[in-house]
Amino acid sequence: MTELASRPRLLLRRLHQVMAGPGSAQERLDQVVRVIAQNMVAEVCSVYLARAGEILELFASEGLKPTAIHKTRLRFGEGLVGLVAVRGLPLSLEEASSHPRFVYRPETGEELYHSFLGVPIIRHNRVLGVLVVQNVRPREYTAEEEEALQTVAMVLAELVGSGELVDPGEIGEGGGPPDQPLTLHGLKMADGVAAGVAIIHEGRVEVTRFVADDVETEKGRLIAAFEAMRAQLDRMISLPEIGTAGEHREILETFKMFAYDRGWQDRIFEAIESGLTAEAAVERVQQQNHRRMLATDDPYLRERLADLDDLSNRLLRTLAGRRDGQDLGEDAIIVARNMGPAELLDYDRRFLKGVVLEEGSPTSHASILARAMGIPLVGHCRGARQQIEPGDSVIVDGDSGQVIVRPSPDIAEVYGQTIADRAALEAAYRAERDLPPVTVDGVRIELHMNAGLLADLTQLDATGADGIGLFRTEFQFMVSATLPRLEAQRELYTQVLEAAGDRPVVFRTLDIGGDKAVPFLPLDAEENPAMGWRAIRIALDRPVLLRYQVRALIAAAAGRPLHIMFPMITEVSEFRAARAIVQKEWERAERLGAAMPSALHVGAMLEVPSLAWELEALLEEADFLSIGTNDLLQFFFASDRSSARIADRYDVLSPSVLNFIDRVVEACNRARVPVTLCGEMGGKPLEAMALIGLGLRRLSISPTAIGPLRRTIRHLDSARLATLVRESLADADRSLRATLRNYARDHGIPV
Ligand code: PEP
Ligand code: MG
Repeated sequence: MTELASRPRLLLRRLHQVMAGPGSAQERLDQVVRVIAQNMVAEVCSVYLARAGEILELFASEGLKPTAIHKTRLRFGEGLVGLVAVRGLPLSLEEASSHPRFVYRPETGEELYHSFLGVPIIRHNRVLGVLVVQNVRPREYTAEEEEALQTVAMVLAELVGSGELVDPGEIGEGGGPPDQPLTLHGLKMADGVAAGVAIIHEGRVEVTRFVADDVETEKGRLIAAFEAMRAQLDRMISLPEIGTAGEHREILETFKMFAYDRGWQDRIFEAIESGLTAEAAVERVQQQNHRRMLATDDPYLRERLADLDDLSNRLLRTLAGRRDGQDLGEDAIIVARNMGPAELLDYDRRFLKGVVLEEGSPTSHASILARAMGIPLVGHCRGARQQIEPGDSVIVDGDSGQVIVRPSPDIAEVYGQTIADRAALEAAYRAERDLPPVTVDGVRIELHMNAGLLADLTQLDATGADGIGLFRTEFQFMVSATLPRLEAQRELYTQVLEAAGDRPVVFRTLDIGGDKAVPFLPLDAEENPAMGWRAIRIALDRPVLLRYQVRALIAAAAGRPLHIMFPMITEVSEFRAARAIVQKEWERAERLGAAMPSALHVGAMLEVPSLAWELEALLEEADFLSIGTNDLLQFFFASDRSSARIADRYDVLSPSVLNFIDRVVEACNRARVPVTLCGEMGGKPLEAMALIGLGLRRLSISPTAIGPLRRTIRHLDSARLATLVRESLADADRSLRATLRNYARDHGIPV
């Protein structure tokens, strides 16, 4: 083995010769394991390949009994080899038989061997098999040896992936999709509905040359590729549509930092040193990144994997002399495994209508950008690239998380109508934006909007919202690689306040943790992050973060009223402690003679049910309350808000929820403390009717819900609605949904 670590280039060249040489694929594989065993001074070298049904079959071995070849089979997950395959990670053991997953296969004669080193054979992030070396003598393999065996496995993937040994259709590649309509179910990551033809995003470039002829030439090629890629990113950042501030820019700046990362570049150089071509070295390092990042519990790092893939693919395309982006001559739906932010921006915005990802997460850079650009995106759509052919007609329903592939003419027509109706409705809502949301009996309902990105602010005028009832400040932190400095925070808050003009803005202090990961604060893995160290809990344990944020808010709001709201307050003492920090910052600014806001309002979010049992005490101290039903209801029902499976299990119009909200609204009214509801619930017409019936007069909702809700409100009689809701609640033992729907139908209320 030590020889391999010191002479990897020679071994790679030898393997390359064997693989490109004469003989059947099986004969060449047999020779490959002999060469590896010799070079690694190992008594055994074996290759197991994946077959249909997640089976690993022993395909070649130097050292194990020849009769076991093509006989010994293990399931993925079975034995040590199966463990390497399911985890996609190397496994190194001094004494294999003492590992709990060890299984003994007598036909192999394996009992003679003690130490074991297995590495996955990976191509395009799919495990194609496992390469194993074993030694008679118990010995510990070094990190260099493990690294070297992985490089060998990568070169071997060329032979395995060629399809000569195992029919690719057998393990799920190729095998054309049926020509039938199909509905794929994923997770909604950006709202909206769109239709177009499928473009399969060719992120990757197939690496065909693995072994370098001349190391210096390869290094030169890599340097040139890096320079070209960086120049391209600089050009992208300076595009007029990216602007001088805002999240597009933050995201690209963060992305650029990766492109300039020395550590990354150095690791690719090291891989070239070991004998790989520039493109194989890029891919090799990307495989390492995948391994490291998938093994980490840090969601931020996992999400940045797509950014790094984006950059690696850019390098590979440059090395292959190909350009980025594909021409879209017509409305297109991009289908990809995953995407980085720059890849999304490579496409012509005029034709880019929707995106389908097999992976992705709501907080990935591509999702944040898609939302800001108004492009529907469905993620976690398993098998999308296998099921969708280029040119297929595809409908992306970002509202329900569905993707309809090759829709029948009927379905296409229905969706086509939906898309056209929506466009018409949006135009109609825009025309009504100056009409006040007043009920027929004269009750004014305030409709504020929820926002978090600079890009959202145009919606203020477009919707005619009364203000911003929830500004999620964590978005700025989520899209930048480093802690946004005081100045950057102040600048954003100033821009928000300027866009709002006379309309009030409620800034929620950082709600990070849970699923909202930020790069500069690594969080320990928790069993239940939504109920873990997040939001105000982090702020009180790390008060510097909150202090700086409040400092930036006070500076930005000079001369205007400032509304600050704390997330996830669980007991009154937390509110007091957080408010004391605000007070200190206020006094500090006064002491320094700074220009001060004209007024200060400090409020709490009710997102944790326990707070409702301390409400009277809280309302003596808080200037306002906002009911955050997104989190509140997941704790109320013990029902994870991000679980698609139980999303519709409990009805938010059940008496339990409405009685709870009734109690809260009544307490606020009694204490004369303004109360808002800022969860998604408030944006749905039937839900909003119930809330208005309970006496709520202020809702903060997503901008797209404002137009429709204004229309609903203008048809409501709040007094009759109150009677209906109260009477129904008095003897209800189930959801009020049907009652409200019937009422709306009978009274011609648009819902
Ligand atoms: C809520 O929990 O209801 C809320 C508005 O906050 P977020 O959705 O940002 O957690
Ligand atoms: Mg919340």
